[in-house]
Amino acid sequence: MNFYIITLFPEAFDSIFASSILKRAQETKKITIKFINPRNFARNKYKTVDDKPYGGGAGMVMKVDTILDALESISPKPHTILLSAGGKRYNQKMALKLSKKKGLAIICGHYEGTDARVEKYVNETVSIGDYVLTGGEIPAAVVVDSVVRLIPGVINKASLETESFSKEGFIEYPQYTRPEDFRGQKVPKILLSGNHKGIENWRQKHSKKS
Ligand code: SAM
Repeated sequence: MNFYIITLFPEAFDSIFASSILKRAQETKKITIKFINPRNFARNKYKTVDDKPYGGGAGMVMKVDTILDALESISPKPHTILLSAGGKRYNQKMALKLSKKKGLAIICGHYEGTDARVEKYVNETVSIGDYVLTGGEIPAAVVVDSVVRLIPGVINKASLETESFSKEGFIEYPQYTRPEDFRGQKVPKILLSGNHKGIENWRQKHSKKS
């Protein structure tokens, strides 16, 4: 799967994409991640990518033309997401759908956001929650991370099957590892018993509905 992140701040992704599962997924060629900076499509010598809002008000708005030039430089045309605090709330079901796409472009807003006309050129506008972040870089990392782990072969299939949200409303049972007794908190005896049926029942009982 090919990811394209349209951002003014590609360096914001450095450590997340260079660590752990995301790093391995790139090394094993399960995914590629490319950054496209709207600034490279700026139409004047000042490399302007934002401007004052029509109608007045605080802050600057990212310009539609440079974002669109950045988006349209991608071939073949990928599925496209615009990140916005007011978008559709992101969830595991959306992550699963996205993991089946060949290409995914994610537009990160910044400042006061993006010109509203960008929306006409994207497949969906997505929010990661009801709060406002400085820019779309953290939400984009959230989307990429949650999608990549669902791409076949990236992580162990068995881990995904029992994971939270793998079924509607399912929250995974509690997990424990050594030591057996930590400051008086003991691991439930059944998990030490080797009784597979008993363990399965205990886990079912302790899984929750969200
Ligand atoms: N003025 C905007 C508003 O009131 O909704 C907030 C703009 S925010 C400071 C700048 C950018 O960060 C947004 O354009 C969006 O790309 C991103 N962003 C902020 N919060 C987000 C969220 N909860 N989900 C997705 N993207 C978000």
